[in-house]
Amino acid sequence: MSHTKKTDTAQHPEPSGLSFLNPAAPEPWASFIEQIDRVAPHMGALSKWVDTLKHPKRILVVDVPIHRDDGTVAHYEGYRVQHNLSRGPGKGGVRFHPAVTLNEVMALSGWMTIKNAAVNLPYGGAKGGIRLDPRAHSRDELERITRRYTSEIGVIIGPGKDIPAPDIGTNEQTMAWMMDTYSMNVGSTATGVVTGKPISLGGSLGRHEATGRGVFIAAREAGRRSHVPIKGARVVVQGFGNVGGIAARMFHEAGATVIALQDHSATIGNEAGIDIHAALAYSASTGGLKGFPGASPLSVDDFWLIPSDFLVPAALEGQILPERAATIKTRIVVEGANGPTTPAADDILRDRGILVVPDVLANAGGVTVSYFEWVQDFSSFFWSEEEINSRLERIMVGAFEAIWEMADERNVSLRTATFIIACQRVLAAREQRGLYP
Ligand code: GLU
Repeated sequence: MSHTKKTDTAQHPEPSGLSFLNPAAPEPWASFIEQIDRVAPHMGALSKWVDTLKHPKRILVVDVPIHRDDGTVAHYEGYRVQHNLSRGPGKGGVRFHPAVTLNEVMALSGWMTIKNAAVNLPYGGAKGGIRLDPRAHSRDELERITRRYTSEIGVIIGPGKDIPAPDIGTNEQTMAWMMDTYSMNVGSTATGVVTGKPISLGGSLGRHEATGRGVFIAAREAGRRSHVPIKGARVVVQGFGNVGGIAARMFHEAGATVIALQDHSATIGNEAGIDIHAALAYSASTGGLKGFPGASPLSVDDFWLIPSDFLVPAALEGQILPERAATIKTRIVVEGANGPTTPAADDILRDRGILVVPDVLANAGGVTVSYFEWVQDFSSFFWSEEEINSRLERIMVGAFEAIWEMADERNVSLRTATFIIACQRVLAAREQRGLYP
């Protein structure tokens, strides 16, 4: 049996490892509902529509059977959840990870609704996933899984219906297979059905770095207003993939000192600062940070206790629970991951004067450049990287400013302020469209 066959790590992204899973964390959908309950009192006349957000519009559960390389047949459970389509087509990534559940995908789709509205993209919110370990499959198996999954969800996706993108465990290659499969099924090339594609297939310059870049911009803006300059700041990053790795690089390049990192393979620290370029090169060649010579191993408990200026959880949800929130020694938490902090932990951090830049703002850079990619595909006119990065900067800074003002005005956390602005947009659209029939 070759069920544990190693994949070519250069071809496949690093999914955040099982070591990040926290069995004590509340179910993600319960956290999302609690976040909605917290915003409800701020909705005024729109409050009659709030329950809309507690009911995903459409959920599709699919069986994904494939022939494995050894000739056996294996089945995987896949999902696509369209949480809300009031403001436009569904939009959100597809996650390949062994811990994917429907509950998680529901929460992730809800967070996409909020995120897309918070930065004012003309999208609803959606998310997909398959419960599997991409590391335990060959490239051929992953291609078969991706193609069958795409065919199964083909009835509800499309450039004007719902546009998937990469997330944990998926990458540009996954998107190329999805685009090709969808295009074969409809009979013509439809580049706009997914974003995060390779540049050669209608992908956008800057998309690969966009989430990490957006995390950095959000951190910089939070730091500017809290008198915590990036230059000289001490930074701790959990997750060293497409989000954490790129955010760490940008902190490093802007003169911050990244003092600790954690990925699926290791937790490491260096008080004098980790050379992020060297760590990225090491991780790309070995598949993880384990054994990186430029830092020493740390225990997981010590990692969460290191004094820092910025702490960037950029792995999975459910990482900062009340116990950790009570002991973390940082000034600003910048959520690169979706859902890393639970509502109860949020309250503790706020009481302790620790600023949290929420996921639905901090990691919105990825979907923002996905939107640019989709627009470029429609018009078949492609922009320069400078154009993309400057538009991303403008959107992130503008959204941050509006959210900061809302938080001041209502004396609420940045998360609740982001939810207020986003839910006002979603629920106003809901009301204006009305109920059918
Ligand atoms: N998966 C990313 C997120 O959680 C990007 C989604 C997209 O580009 O549609 O925001």
